Amino acid sequence: MKNPQGLIRPLVRALHPYIPGEQPKIKGLIKLNTNENPYPPSPKVLASIKAAVDARLRLYPNPTAQALRERLAGLHGVSPGNIILGNGSDELLALAVRAFAEPGAAVGRSQRHKATVQFFHPSYSLYPVLAETHGATTNAVPLLADFDLPAIPDLKRGRRWDFRAALTFVTTPNAPSGHGYRLAQLDALCRAQKGVLVLDEAYVDFAGENAMALALKYPHVLVARTFSKSYSLCFQRVGYFVGHPALIAALDKIRDSYNVNGLGQVAALATLDDLSHYRANFRKIIATREKLSLDLAELGFQVLPSQTNFILARPPVLPAEDWLQRLRDRRILVRWFSHPSVRSYLRITIGTPEEATALARAAKAIVRLARG
Ligand SMILES: *Cc1c(COP(=O)(O)O)cnc(C)c1O
Repeated sequence: MKNPQGLIRPLVRALHPYIPGEQPKIKGLIKLNTNENPYPPSPKVLASIKAAVDARLRLYPNPTAQALRERLAGLHGVSPGNIILGNGSDELLALAVRAFAEPGAAVGRSQRHKATVQFFHPSYSLYPVLAETHGATTNAVPLLADFDLPAIPDLKRGRRWDFRAALTFVTTPNAPSGHGYRLAQLDALCRAQKGVLVLDEAYVDFAGENAMALALKYPHVLVARTFSKSYSLCFQRVGYFVGHPALIAALDKIRDSYNVNGLGQVAALATLDDLSHYRANFRKIIATREKLSLDLAELGFQVLPSQTNFILARPPVLPAEDWLQRLRDRRILVRWFSHPSVRSYLRITIGTPEEATALARAAKAIVRLARG
């Protein structure tokens, strides 16, 4: 058979896809590589999903996830028109690129900002993939050495940041650094930015403060939330944006009619009925995070302060990539990124206290063996 490569758009042929963390088939691994929540969804959520699995599966779900939208509107003190649900927040991030950024070929040099998708580096590595898929131009601007946001006057002086970029993504708290930005810093950025700004709050439930107020204060600011990480619902794919009804309506126009699957809607609604269950889990995860950070620091790790359900830590004695393999040999999976800004670090998801203890114990043994 003839190779059909030539039928694929050059842009797609050249595309570097997003690489998700490994979902291993092997049993008995301690999986601390993809920031999943170690605790199961509430029993009420599991019961509601089971109760929804019957002959109704033949029907299309509610196309606008209306009941869920209304509940979320109540939760955040906004109207349903301020909210759009997605098949995970990832889908909405992609829709934002398509709704707000021009494909590069469509604009001239002087209009370059209209095709610019901008973000700080390091942050969520899906953003450049979404931009490139769309044919938009990416503008990745480095964070400070301690992974904090550059101050606005410095961004202005530095010239690399584009205050007119069509679309800017800010992961807050950030991944993979775990760094929490202050509301005042984010407010200043929102005030200075002219294009659409998405505050991606995937990890905000593990942080001290959130920036939801900015989505209500500024017409060009959207806040992204997800049920995946803090609400133990990765499998169901439910996320949402909050923002100005005009931006929400634009995204709504270009989404698939039934983008949020029915069981996902059921599960997310039941989640909102049992928030106290999840708040208890947030507290446990935060306590485990602080304990693990101390334990690893004692072994010589340089652990960055985290406002998320993971930590970024620079391991001692051996290169981080070697640590990845040695932990794997001991059946513990963590994440390592090859980019120069983070290649000396490991990103470690916060699991249960037992998993954290197992990790600290394995790390201790690795240090001892490596030192000889
Ligand atoms: C996990 C993650 C998402 C995606 O969440 P889904 O709702 O599962 O698609 C978005 N942004 C960041 C920064 C994340 O880490």
